[in-house]
Amino acid sequence: MSVLVVGSIALDSIKTATAARADLLGGSASYAAVSASYFGPVRLVGIVGSDFPAHHLDYFQSRGIDLAGLEIAEGKTFRWSGEYAQDMNSRETLSVDLNVFADYLPKLPTAYHDSRVVLLGNIAPELQHHVLDQAPRPDFVIADTMDLWIEIGRPKLVELLARIDCLILNDSEARRFTGESSLIKAAHAILAMGPRYVAIKKGEHGCIFFGPDEFFSVGAFPLAEVEDPTGAGDTFAGGVAGYLAHNLGRDGITPELLREALVHGSVMASFNVEAFGFERLLALQAAEIADRYAAFVKMSRFG
Ligand code: AMP
Repeated sequence: MSVLVVGSIALDSIKTATAARADLLGGSASYAAVSASYFGPVRLVGIVGSDFPAHHLDYFQSRGIDLAGLEIAEGKTFRWSGEYAQDMNSRETLSVDLNVFADYLPKLPTAYHDSRVVLLGNIAPELQHHVLDQAPRPDFVIADTMDLWIEIGRPKLVELLARIDCLILNDSEARRFTGESSLIKAAHAILAMGPRYVAIKKGEHGCIFFGPDEFFSVGAFPLAEVEDPTGAGDTFAGGVAGYLAHNLGRDGITPELLREALVHGSVMASFNVEAFGFERLLALQAAEIADRYAAFVKMSRFG
C-alpha cells in the first residue's frame, strides 16, 4: 500500500561545530519519502525549481518514489540554512528562502486519491489542509509541524488537528503550543483538540506516544557520534508512515502496529543523523534496518 508524502523539498546549507556543507538535498518531504520508501511504495507531492539537480530526482526514482505529484516550476528551489550548537540539540535557522514555494498549492494526481496513509510533512498548515481537501478521507493521517507554524499559523494548525489521526511535534513545540510545561499535560491538551494520537519527540531521548488508552515510550538508539541531526524528525515520521502503510492490511491500525511503527521510525532517524544530509540514507541497506530493529527490541526487553 502506498503512502502519500507532502512537504518541502529543499536545498539545505548546514553548519555544525566541526563542519559546514552547502546546497545539500533536504526538505521535510525528501527525508520522509526516502525513509518511507524502505517499507513500500511512496507518492511524493511537492515542488522544486528549475535549478533542482537532476541526480536528486534520479535518487528519488531509484527508491521507487512516484514523482507524478512533483511539480517542477520555473525559478529557484526552496532553500534553508541552519547552524547547530555544540551539543547538536539546539539549532538556529539562519535563512529561509521560499522561492517556488511562495505561491505553491499542492495538487494531487487522481491516481493518488486512494492513498490509505498520508503524511503531511512540515509545511504551512494551509497547504496541509489543501492536500486533505482533494481526496477522500484516508485510513490514517499523520501531520508533522514545527515552531514556525505554531507561531504564525496557529488557527489553521488547530483546525487541522480535527482532521488528522496523529500529530508529531517536538517537546519544546508541544510546550509552546499548549502552554503546559508538563509533557503529559501537553499531550492530553493536544488529544483534546482532536487527534487520536500524539507523538512528542525528545531529540536524543527518543519519543513519547499517547493515545486514548495507551502510553508508549521509544528510546533513541544510543549513538556515540551525531554528525548532522537535520531531517531526523522527518525521517522518523516517514519511517512510521511507511511501516504503517506497508502493514495496514494485517489487522488495521492496532496498538501493537503503532508501537512497531514508532520503533521503526526511531531506527530510521538513528541512521539519518550518522552523516550529513542524505549521505547515510544513500548507503543504507534494508538488512541494516532489520539488524538495528532487532538490537532495539533486545535493548528494550526487561522482566
Ligand atoms: P528537521 O531537522 O526534522 O526539523 O527538518 C529539517 C528540514 O526541514 C530541512 O531539510 C529543511 O529544508 C526543512 N525546513 C526548514 N524550515 C522549513 C519550513 N519553514 N517549511 C518546510 N520545511 C522546512
